[in-house]
Amino acid sequence: MGKPTGFLEFTRELPSKRPSQERVNDYKEFVERYPDEKLNQQSARCMDCGIPFCHNGCPLGNVIPEFNDAVYRKSWKEAYEILSSTNNFPEFTGRICPAPCETACVLGINQPAIAIEEIERHIIEIAFDKGFVKPNKNISRTGKKVAVVGSGPAGLAAAAQLNLAGHSVTVFERDDKPGGLLRYGIPDFKLEKWVVERRVNLIEEEGVVFKCNANVGVDVSISDLLREYNAIVLAGGSTMPRNLNIPGRELKGVYFAMEFLKQQNKRVSNIVFEQDDIVATNKNVVVIGGGDTGSDCVGTSNRHKASSVAQFELLPKPPQQRNNAMPWPTYPMLLKTTSSHEEGCERHWAVSTKAFVGDEQGNLKAIRLMDLEWKIVDDRPAQFVEVPGSEREIPCELALLAMGFLHPQHDGLINELELELDDRGNVRANEKQYQTNISKIFAAGDVRRGQSLVVWAIKEGRDCAQKVDEFLVGHSLLETADGNSIARYL
Ligand SMILES: Cc1cc2nc3c(=O)[nH]c(=O)nc-3n(C[C@H](O)[C@H](O)[C@H](O)COP(=O)(O)OP(=O)(O)OC[C@H]3O[C@@H](n4cnc5c(N)ncnc54)[C@H](O)[C@@H]3O)c2cc1C
Ligand code: SF4
Repeated sequence: MGKPTGFLEFTRELPSKRPSQERVNDYKEFVERYPDEKLNQQSARCMDCGIPFCHNGCPLGNVIPEFNDAVYRKSWKEAYEILSSTNNFPEFTGRICPAPCETACVLGINQPAIAIEEIERHIIEIAFDKGFVKPNKNISRTGKKVAVVGSGPAGLAAAAQLNLAGHSVTVFERDDKPGGLLRYGIPDFKLEKWVVERRVNLIEEEGVVFKCNANVGVDVSISDLLREYNAIVLAGGSTMPRNLNIPGRELKGVYFAMEFLKQQNKRVSNIVFEQDDIVATNKNVVVIGGGDTGSDCVGTSNRHKASSVAQFELLPKPPQQRNNAMPWPTYPMLLKTTSSHEEGCERHWAVSTKAFVGDEQGNLKAIRLMDLEWKIVDDRPAQFVEVPGSEREIPCELALLAMGFLHPQHDGLINELELELDDRGNVRANEKQYQTNISKIFAAGDVRRGQSLVVWAIKEGRDCAQKVDEFLVGHSLLETADGNSIARYL
């Protein structure tokens, strides 16, 4: 433990952010770094508890008290080595992880949790500044070839680990640049794209080959992959968005969130796209769906200078504090106010969208909605019922559907291979082996577990790589989140 009295002396503080009025004028990240003294104080708050629940809260099993202690002692190389032993990409999780570790932090029982995510971001950025992060080019090769389909966090983690184990890895990506949703989806103001490119370049320098504009099942034949590679990792993500089939869905002005967000990523990077521009400028925008994707649409609409931005959520407003239904250290479903909400958004809770209303030219002009109430009717289990007389319209010229994703795309690769699917339509491969019904094909990340988080995608990519390594050479020294390896390559 850095400082035994740290948690008594200092409270949780997060780094300052650029003010909302200023940051909505650009697409740059806005969370500053801690001054040295603050970083030291924040790491000093870690109590190094006998049973650090944060380890368990983090899907990667990050060794949190140990890196906090190293940060407190300003032992930067040690902190970096501890962090990178479990997490291939702390620069991503340190920026955009919802930090389930913090909700499991023991200090969180009666005080604000340790600022783990921020400490993580500082460790990796300091490591880059000090030149500790270098490509590992000293890898002895096994002669085995692995194809990874998809270059999101799951594909990147699997590729990096399998390459470290000595296999020759090629990543196939159907987009024009690698990164998956890190590249096209998550807005630049949350994760600037040089951060993704910096890591992809390192992985490339270590020997992984990236083939972009390569849609497996369309431009790249799956039978060629099966013939040429000893194993294949599917990491294509969960890409089929949930639709809202209500009257007026066909109107001009109703789009899926990803159509809107991906265009903006491309605009920021000066990449030309063929589709018609979807812009929020001077429009009343309604984002349907209360999650992270919806929040990203709010932040992007404010940067486009929308006239107004509203967000609809089907569920009632969650509590601000834990209650008996969500005791520590479980992940609590609390009210989340994101930085995008801070920038301006009217949030509507427990509402149902009844219809999109158009003008004579087929353009969206309003949304019809109704309030919902969660109640028991006629002794049946509680359910949502519409509140009589609450139907109303609000003006809206741009509606963005951000209601989650159903499963991966089945057309093409998955159907052609006749891969078994689970009940939700994801590729079936159990969490212990990551192996599909075709023995040399493995699956990791959202394509297997359904829509999830970057931290889970990295964990699955790492664990899947270990199983592929065992499949190829009979044993594996790669480390996983469960700690079931014998050693680690480094
Ligand atoms: C808008 C948005 C915001 C989000 N924000 C956050 C956040 O703040 N924090 C967080 O933790 N999580 C967030 N998530 C979730 C997170 O991004 C995903 O859980 C994560 O990226 C999944 O990683 P993955 O590698 O499994 O798939 P993806 O990141 O989806 O990558 C899959 C890649 O595979 C490629 N691909 C698919 N099929 C093929 C094929 N046949 N051939 C070649 N390439 C193919 C795709 O083009 C894509 O690049 C967000 C998701 C969205 C949509
Ligand atoms: S990856 Fe996420 S859950 Fe794990 S320590 Fe970092 S912020 Fe916490």
